[in-house]
Amino acid sequence: MNSTLEIAKTTQKTWQEISISERVKCLKNLQTILLKNKETYARLITTEMHKPITQAIAEVEKCTLLCDYYLQNADSFLEPKKINTKNSESYVSYEPLGVILGVMPWNFPFWQVFRFAVPTITSGNTVVVKHASNVPKCATVIQTIFEEASFPKGCYQNLPISSTEVAKIIANPIIKAVSLTGSEQAGIAVASEAGKHLKKCVLELGGNNAFIILEDANLEKAVGIAVNARMQNAGQSCIAAKRFLVHESIHDAFVSQLKAAVEKLKSGDPLNNDTQIGSLARVDLAEELEIQVGKSIEMGAKLLLGGNRNEAFFEPTILTQVTPEMPVFKEETFGPVAAITSFKTVDEAISLSNQSDFGLGVSIFTRNIDSIKTKISAFNEGAVFINEMVKSDPRLPFGGIKKSGYGRELAEDGIKEFVNVKTVVIN
Ligand code: NAP
Repeated sequence: MNSTLEIAKTTQKTWQEISISERVKCLKNLQTILLKNKETYARLITTEMHKPITQAIAEVEKCTLLCDYYLQNADSFLEPKKINTKNSESYVSYEPLGVILGVMPWNFPFWQVFRFAVPTITSGNTVVVKHASNVPKCATVIQTIFEEASFPKGCYQNLPISSTEVAKIIANPIIKAVSLTGSEQAGIAVASEAGKHLKKCVLELGGNNAFIILEDANLEKAVGIAVNARMQNAGQSCIAAKRFLVHESIHDAFVSQLKAAVEKLKSGDPLNNDTQIGSLARVDLAEELEIQVGKSIEMGAKLLLGGNRNEAFFEPTILTQVTPEMPVFKEETFGPVAAITSFKTVDEAISLSNQSDFGLGVSIFTRNIDSIKTKISAFNEGAVFINEMVKSDPRLPFGGIKKSGYGRELAEDGIKEFVNVKTVVIN
């Protein structure tokens, strides 16, 4: 482990001396390798965490968009910025911090890692990555992809360690900062350790996004997007729509249309091209979901569809008459469970939406854009999407507030998370 960190440190010293325009050439190689082998990598993803193969291919393709985005923009983002002051010269330069630790989850085993590593390395840092323990082959392959793409050896290294060893790595003086994508519990552990050693951290944690359908929404569009927003990746996404808040006047129509659409989803072998819902990544995740659903039903939620578990497979499920005290409203459900609550006024919907410890994002469906725009600041979220599901895009900053974490990934904000913003004044 120590030799891995030493290699990362040595490589970083030479890597930061290479111009950004030279560094980004490796991103082009990365993109080419990903595209050429996307089916192989997708198969690996599906085999390890059971995501339907078409969704795994889409995940690898999305990584190539990220590479392209920073290939086009990193240079201008990291260019020193001249500031007019009374001094003869003043500017801000963006310099790498050193070796950065990434602690990553299994739900998008390529995308999450690339989203962290690509901008962080491009800004002149090197990274060591502790990936989730249930995707060890993805973890190993990602290192080989960076090496094949001609990144100097040591720019990207896989750290095959257990979560109990993370604290020791954070404490190591070679590590300058840490980025974690994962659960609230892991966030608390990593942030505490980073705080103890005064090291910066970025936390991308859980979410309990509301999906709000106002009275005047285009219902057909909302239903189509709702299915994807909740059921994609069998619901195992931090930004998935988890709590459906529906105006009482359209509640019954929405529920019956959603049920019809969810019933059409094809489950089965995730390696088949036509499978839309696979099993969850691990049996314990499905068991936890079963408890959340069971308790909510005991508390009065009505089971409209699904609800059954077979090993790691959890049926796509719809619960109505959900109230804020129930686990499916209060807690993050990491699986294919849509929890539906009705409301009477927009203000009530905003209040229900904000009634969450998390603050990653919210979707609102309405035809009255002018009116909803006046309410955007009332949502305590990292992202507000109108007439669209919350999704990440390399061009837009991504991250949350409250227990969803802090810091941003992607866009210009993301590439500036692990840099020293250096003020230079010359007289
Ligand atoms: P997790 O159990 O927290 O694991 C994430 C990573 O953290 C894994 O590498 C894990 O290692 C490690 N880890 C776990 N406990 C740790 C500890 N005490 N100290 C240091 N490292 C620790 O989360 P998950 O089950 O993989 O992923 C699901 C969670 O991630 C959900 O809450 C989801 O919402 C969140 N997530 C957030 C985002 C976002 O962008 N905001 C994106 C995806 C997922 P092991 O695998 O070895 O335990």
